[in-house]
Amino acid sequence: MKKHNIVIAGSGFAGVWAAAAAARAVALAGQEGRVCITVVSPAPRMVIRPRLYEAVIDNMEPDVLPLFNALGVRHMAGRVVEIRAEARQVVVEADGSRLTLDYDRFVLAAGSQLFTPPVPGLAEYALNVDQIEGARALAAHLQALASRPDSAARNTVVVAGGGLTGIETAAEMPDRLRGVLGAGAAVRVVVVERAGGIGPDLGAAPRPMIEAALAECGVEIVPNAAVSAVDEGGVTLSTGLRIDAATVVWTAGARAHPLGAQVPGRRDEVGRVFVDAFLQAEGAADILVTGDMAHALTDGLGNAALMSCQHALSLGRVAGYNAAAGLLGLPLHPYSQPKYVTCLDLGPWGALYTEGWDRQVCLTGEEGKALKREINTRWIYPPAPDREAVFAVANPDFVIVP
Ligand SMILES: Cc1cc2nc3c(=O)[nH]c(=O)nc-3n(C[C@H](O)[C@H](O)[C@H](O)COP(=O)(O)OP(=O)(O)OC[C@H]3O[C@@H](n4cnc5c(N)ncnc54)[C@H](O)[C@@H]3O)c2cc1C
Repeated sequence: MKKHNIVIAGSGFAGVWAAAAAARAVALAGQEGRVCITVVSPAPRMVIRPRLYEAVIDNMEPDVLPLFNALGVRHMAGRVVEIRAEARQVVVEADGSRLTLDYDRFVLAAGSQLFTPPVPGLAEYALNVDQIEGARALAAHLQALASRPDSAARNTVVVAGGGLTGIETAAEMPDRLRGVLGAGAAVRVVVVERAGGIGPDLGAAPRPMIEAALAECGVEIVPNAAVSAVDEGGVTLSTGLRIDAATVVWTAGARAHPLGAQVPGRRDEVGRVFVDAFLQAEGAADILVTGDMAHALTDGLGNAALMSCQHALSLGRVAGYNAAAGLLGLPLHPYSQPKYVTCLDLGPWGALYTEGWDRQVCLTGEEGKALKREINTRWIYPPAPDREAVFAVANPDFVIVP
C-alpha cells in the first residue's frame, strides 16, 4: 500500500500544532503505518517570539524533539528553499547541500519576518526583537552600554514603531536600562509612531489607558513621525527632529516568509497567501498555508486572522488536521475562530486585556499582568511529550483563549 507524505515547513506555533493535529488524525483513522509526517526547520525548537522583548531571554526556544518523537513525527534539520507545486516537491537546504522531498500534502508554516525598509542606516545600526538572534544581540548591546561614558545618548533608547511589539518593548525598556546603568541613571525611552497615536491597529478604545501606562513607565511617545535615518549616534525623524540615542529598536511591521511567493495564487499586502476555509492555498489544494503565512478568515463577518500566536495555534491545528484528513478520506474541518482577545504587556504598570475586534477593555494592571504571565509562560509553550495528553488538545476545534 502506498505510503503518504505530509511535509511541514516550520516548527513554530503553527508548525508544531500542525504536526500534532496531523498525527492525531492519522491515529484516529487507524492509519499510523500509512502516513509519514516530516517537519523541516533549522532546529527542532519552538522560538517563543512573543517574549523576545523581555529582559531575560532564557527558555525562549524549547526543544520539541521529545514531543515529535512521542508523536511519531520525523524532524529534518534544514530550510525549505523551493516549492515545486506542480511536481509536489520541496527542496530542502541543509549543511550546504540540497535534497528534494516528495509530498502528498505540504503545510507551509514558515512564519513571518521583521520588515526592514530601505531607511538609511537601519540595517547597520538598528536592533530588533523579532527572532532569538535579534533579542540576544539587543541584550548584549544593552549590557555593553554600562562600559560607555555617561551621556544622554547612552541613556536613551528609541523604539521605532508603536504597534503591539513596539509598545511592549518600550514599556520594559526603562527598567532594563536602569538594570544595566544603575537605579539612579537618567534614562530616556521614546516611541516613534508614524500614525497620529500609539497602537494604531488597536483602535481608539484602549489608547488612553496605553498612553497613561506608558507615561507611568516613563516612556515618551512621538506620534506623526517616521524614522527617516539611523546612525551610530541616534535617529533623524521625518519631521526633522533629531534624537541622540545609542540604542534604536526597530519594530515597525512584519512580512510573511518569502516562501509564500512560490505558492500558486494570490497574496495580501504583507505577503500572506490567501487560503480557503480549509486553509488550502487558492491555487494549490494540496498546499495548506498556516500561521503568520496565511490570509484566513476567522468568522463570517470578514475578520481575517492576524499575525499572532493566538491565531497561529489554531490555524496550525486546522491545517495539520486537514492535511491528514484530505489524504485519508475524512471530511475536512473549516477554520473558525470568532473570539479575538489581546493581552498587551505594559511593563511595571501591568497588562491590558481586551476582548473583541473593537478591543473592549476587560482587565488592567496587575490582573491583566497575571493573565499575561499565564499566557506567556504556560499556554503558548509546547506541551509535554505525552502522546495521549497532546492528542486530547490537538483537535482542530481546540482554541486557547481565556
Ligand atoms: C516581540 C514579539 C511579540 C509578540 N507578541 C505577541 C503577543 O503578545 N501575542 C500574540 O498572539 N502574538 C505575538 N507575536 C506574534 C507571534 O509571535 C507570531 O504570530 C507567531 O510566532 C507566528 O507563529 P508561526 O508558527 O506562524 O511562525 P513562527 O513562530 O515565526 O515560526 C516559524 C517557523 O518556521 C521556521 N522556518 C523559517 N524559515 C523556514 C524555512 N525556509 N524552512 C523551514 N522552516 C522555516 C522557523 O525556524 C520557525 O520554526 C509577537 C511577535 C514578536 C516578534
